[in-house]
Amino acid sequence: MDVDIVCVGFGPATAGFLTTLSRQLVNTDGTPVVQSNVLPGMPPQVVCYERADDICFGVSGVVTRARALRESFPELEKAGIPMSAAVSEERVLYLLDPAGASRRSTVLRMVDAVIRATKFALPFENHALSLPWTPAFLHKCDGMIFSMGQLMQWVGTQVQGSGAVQIWPGTPVSQAIIEENKVIGVRLLDQGVDQKGNPADGFTPGMDVRAALTVVGDGPVGAIGQQLDTHFGLPNGNHVRDWAIGMKFVVDLAQDTPLKPGTVLHTFGYPEPEIFGFLYVHPDRVASLGIFVPSWFDSPARTAYRYLQHWMLHPYLWRYLKGGKLRSWGAKTLGESGRRGEPYLAGNGYARIGEGSGTTNVLTGSGVDEAWASGTQLAEAVLDLLKAKKTFTKQNLDEAYVKRRRSSWLEKESVVAEKSRDGFQRGVATGMLGMALAGFTKGRITLAREPAQPWKRIPSLEDYYSGRICPKDLAELREECKAKNISLHAALMDRVGWPAIPFDGQLLVSHQDALLMGGKVQAQHGYADHIVFQHPELCQRCGARLCIEACSGQAITPGQTGVPVFDREKCVHCGACLWNCSQVNPEDPDRMNIAFRAGTGGLHSAEN
Ligand SMILES: Cc1cc2nc3c(=O)[nH]c(=O)nc-3n(C[C@H](O)[C@H](O)[C@H](O)COP(=O)(O)OP(=O)(O)OC[C@H]3O[C@@H](n4cnc5c(N)ncnc54)[C@H](O)[C@@H]3O)c2cc1C
Ligand code: SF4
Ligand code: SF4
Repeated sequence: MDVDIVCVGFGPATAGFLTTLSRQLVNTDGTPVVQSNVLPGMPPQVVCYERADDICFGVSGVVTRARALRESFPELEKAGIPMSAAVSEERVLYLLDPAGASRRSTVLRMVDAVIRATKFALPFENHALSLPWTPAFLHKCDGMIFSMGQLMQWVGTQVQGSGAVQIWPGTPVSQAIIEENKVIGVRLLDQGVDQKGNPADGFTPGMDVRAALTVVGDGPVGAIGQQLDTHFGLPNGNHVRDWAIGMKFVVDLAQDTPLKPGTVLHTFGYPEPEIFGFLYVHPDRVASLGIFVPSWFDSPARTAYRYLQHWMLHPYLWRYLKGGKLRSWGAKTLGESGRRGEPYLAGNGYARIGEGSGTTNVLTGSGVDEAWASGTQLAEAVLDLLKAKKTFTKQNLDEAYVKRRRSSWLEKESVVAEKSRDGFQRGVATGMLGMALAGFTKGRITLAREPAQPWKRIPSLEDYYSGRICPKDLAELREECKAKNISLHAALMDRVGWPAIPFDGQLLVSHQDALLMGGKVQAQHGYADHIVFQHPELCQRCGARLCIEACSGQAITPGQTGVPVFDREKCVHCGACLWNCSQVNPEDPDRMNIAFRAGTGGLHSAEN
């Protein structure tokens, strides 16, 4: 099939691109502003393929200053987008450890002791210190809270209603078609294949879609972005090494909740010092809440699900959450390298937008508006090129798109944020200090240290639990969990003193129940496994087996052969396994032993 422009992924970046583009392809009298090259007489043919089964199945928190969104929709507040609210109150909280199980450094323990000793004079309640003010760089006071699913549904309806572009959900793109270093379109995923991708009953090879321009907005772990990074390399000095897994619940709060719509809480310090948390209140007593587990939390058993439950049970938060009911659940990777992870933004026949192009700002904790801004900038550039009858060469795209992006607020702010988190390479206290320095000096002073590749950071279980669990006990726990074919983290956390989760069947539910109740995970048959253990012999030698511990959907289990087993039916496509692997890929020191390819299925929830 031939089209003029093909887009990969419908996240906020592509939504911004298509919103701006679709408004300017047709004149008010219905004639095309410029003509299609593949269907003369018609406006340019624009198609977008989205992997998930619906355009509203994305996962995000979404508190945003919405600067770029408001430029596209000046009446954003009045648009009536379900679950949206203007930010009414912001609090930043340092959570102390009421369970006595978290792994705190000596410095942090001293800080905690001082806070507890002087708490009568501090804004301290329920084991939490409320910062007296929200630093300006974190502020979202003029912003809005959204549900990613509802926002994307609303935007998608507007875009498709224009009749100028088509969006196809449930249609993963398997690869970019590259000829002589030029991207000439995309190939869709094969159907009717076995788990390994071999033709089976009803085999239908993925269609080739040729286009003058391929817009890649497939997010932080997208297969097409990865393919382009490998093929074209990254600009000198850039690398993608900082990640986090964000896991969230959408919760119906109790009838008598004191939390007002628009409330924003940000937390740090607990359940482990490295884990950040968020709670945003939508209208009608609904809250989005969750945690981020970063790649610099050097635990070989870093699970998000169990930690999320301990975070919810922190006394400061639990008084708000008690009596609540799980409505939806989700997880997704966040690319935290920001500008340092920026790939070539444009090449012959293609352009990159959104988080996979390094837009996410780790200092301000925002990615949606930044992704959207990059999409609108590309759309303006494309319109200029179309009107000037210029082709989509690297040179023309650099002039029209990259130059625009470089002179925008997006670039200025991403430069300030670029090294703001480097302090975390040396520990949490240094990391917080580094963020504050970068924020207050607008990036002039940072505690710089080049981030290490994630696989280099993973200690052995024996080292990590040294002094807390003896090697003999560790070996026994390992064998017990292997015999049950389950991950190890729950047993480890129990052993070092984390209290049992008091399951209530409403909000505190088992991981498997969350998959059924909150995530509604599904996978169609006839597609290949998108998670591949590339060098099985490395898995057999692997000590930490972090992929199993960190898997958000319990889709990776130990198996019997020493090579983990992947179950597509449970995978939420969070992408965490891509960077939660402790063995380097022998072909590429910046990648690990797991391949995360394009695939179907995943979460079926429109509220995340
Ligand atoms: C739990 C969590 C909380 C967050 N909280 C906030 C917040 O409060 N504020 C904020 O501003 N940001 C937040 N973020 C970050 C924000 O969600 C991202 O920065 C933003 O979504 C990036 O947009 P994007 O369009 O670049 O990519 P994505 O949102 O990742 O969209 C990419 C799309 O491409 C699709 N795709 C991928 N591969 C393929 C393929 N091969 N074929 C077809 N489609 C494909 C994906 O399914 C997806 O829909 C949060 C993220 C998480 C995970
Ligand atoms: S995928 Fe990586 S972490 Fe998992 S068992 Fe294999 S080598 Fe170890
Ligand atoms: S297997 Fe699926 S659910 Fe598990 S970490 Fe990988 S992408 Fe996430």
